[in-house]
Amino acid sequence: MSLSARPTAYRLSVVAPCYNEEAGLAEFVRRVQAVCAQLGCAHEIVLVNDGSRDRTLPVALDLASRHPEIKVVNLLRNFGHQAAVTAGLDVVSGDVVVLIDSDLQDPPELITEMIAAWQQGADVAYGQRRKRDGETFFKLLTAKLFYRLLKLLTQSDIPSDTGDFRLMDRRVVEVLCSMRERHRFIRGMVSWVGGRQVAVPYDRRPRFAGETKYPFRKMFAFAIDAITSFSVVPLRLVTYLALCILFLAVLATLTVFVVKLINPAAFIPGFAATMLTIIFFGGFQLLALGIIGEYLGRMYEAVKARPIYIVEQVYQQRDGRLAARSPASVPPMTVG
Ligand code: UDP
Ligand code: MG
Repeated sequence: MSLSARPTAYRLSVVAPCYNEEAGLAEFVRRVQAVCAQLGCAHEIVLVNDGSRDRTLPVALDLASRHPEIKVVNLLRNFGHQAAVTAGLDVVSGDVVVLIDSDLQDPPELITEMIAAWQQGADVAYGQRRKRDGETFFKLLTAKLFYRLLKLLTQSDIPSDTGDFRLMDRRVVEVLCSMRERHRFIRGMVSWVGGRQVAVPYDRRPRFAGETKYPFRKMFAFAIDAITSFSVVPLRLVTYLALCILFLAVLATLTVFVVKLINPAAFIPGFAATMLTIIFFGGFQLLALGIIGEYLGRMYEAVKARPIYIVEQVYQQRDGRLAARSPASVPPMTVG
């Protein structure tokens, strides 16, 4: 059952986060526009400039001044991919919304297939990568391991080999916008919402220009976010581990007791044994503290309830001229 009936005339919103994408942005917009023209639907393209250090903003503003359907959300600094996507989702007005990377690794032409799936009743049509050209072996391996681990640890049915490239019905977007958690793992949150979610397979292309903004450090943080956002299994693991160790300790005590009864001279009080015990339990306690700290840290940040991003200005054409709107008129900015 889909969440809502599909209108025949619809409005499409395309949201693209941009961080240092000056070289490929014009080409990206050109290809998205070609797809929209082919679809023949009303549309808007929301480019979120996530604090780029290159000429992404002027390039985006130039595009917006030439095309009235382009809206530029300029963030005050670099807030990260997931926050940038959220900023874009908060300003869209379409009946159907597409999230897409602006580096042309996600082919805009796939939107046509996604729209077809939506018209057949899908609430979410997510791009599923069949092939990933131009990625390092290391990235492919870590991505694979990550999705397997996520599946193992979470109850949520987060599909593997997907990114944030997806189409969502308005209803799904509204629910998503109401989820104001700070550590955002959007593809997981979308799958949490539910409804009819279908896969649209595609081959991921190499970047059109520039380089990845997801070095290993960021990918690792992203993986930790994903797991701790969707699973309390790490917390439970500590309990299991503690129970196992307790069981072994009882077993060892019994063994020592029995051996001592049979042969009182069997054990010389050992320095090594004592040290090993101390190190072993010390390590275990540190691990437990680390995991508790991870969750405590999240609560700390949730309690602070800072905005996920800060908009500097939103630019769009009005009466044929590029105009800036103040962030005050951009809904909803802070966490309730
Ligand atoms: N991006 C962003 N803010 C960031 C990092 C990336 O808005 O801090 C954008 C980037 O411009 C691109 C998308 O998010 O459109 C995906 O980033 P990237 O291509 O670097 O990731 P990869 O495809 O290598 O996983
Ligand atoms: Mg990319």
